[in-house]
Amino acid sequence: MRIFKQGNWNKKIKNVCPICKTQKKGEVVLIGISGKQKGNNCEALQVHLDCLNLWIDLKRKIIYQSIRS
Ligand SMILES: [Zn+2]
Repeated sequence: MRIFKQGNWNKKIKNVCPICKTQKKGEVVLIGISGKQKGNNCEALQVHLDCLNLWIDLKRKIIYQSIRS
C-alpha cells in the first residue's frame, strides 16, 4: 500500500476521507473501490492512514473496516 505524505484534497468538489469525513492534513493511502475496476485501473478513494482500523475475516478471506454513512 503506497503512502502519500499529504492528501490531494479538492476544496471545490469537497472530496473527503470516507471515515472522518474531513480533508485534514496527514498521510493518506488510496483504497480501490470494489466493483470499480476497469482493466488494470481502479477508481479509488483517499483515506487518512491514521483513520484506518482494519480487521481481518479469516473465514471470508477479507480485510475490512466498516464506515458510517
Ligand atoms: Zn480521515
